[in-house]
Amino acid sequence: MSECIFCKIINKEIPSQVVFEDEYVLAFKDINPVAPVHLLIIPKKHMESLNDIEVVDEALIGHILMVAKKLAQESGIADSGYRVVNNCGDDGGQVVKHLHFHLIGGQPLGIKIC
Ligand code: C5P
Repeated sequence: MSECIFCKIINKEIPSQVVFEDEYVLAFKDINPVAPVHLLIIPKKHMESLNDIEVVDEALIGHILMVAKKLAQESGIADSGYRVVNNCGDDGGQVVKHLHFHLIGGQPLGIKIC
């Protein structure tokens, strides 16, 4: 059994507030939101970080961005704007070692570092 916390969420071994699920991805509300809308979109396939994606994952990564767009629309933040963030590795601030994309919005998001 996986020790990965996001794999446990995918397997419903620990609860989460799921907002979207299909064969490939799960999206749920971040437990520590930094903005009114803060969702996490994760592949069901375990990959530690963006460093681990391969050519075969191209469609999956594209699908994640399509899900981000759909959830932004459904959350009412598409017109005002939002960020899709991936933290990769230690210097990138990644805490959970299962690839994930943050969808954040619902307020002006402040400091831009890039
Ligand atoms: O990109 P990073 O690894 O820092 O983000 C991990 C995110 O996962 C955090 O925003 C944290 O609040 C969230 N999280 C969660 N549910 C958990 C564990 C972590 O939403 N059970």
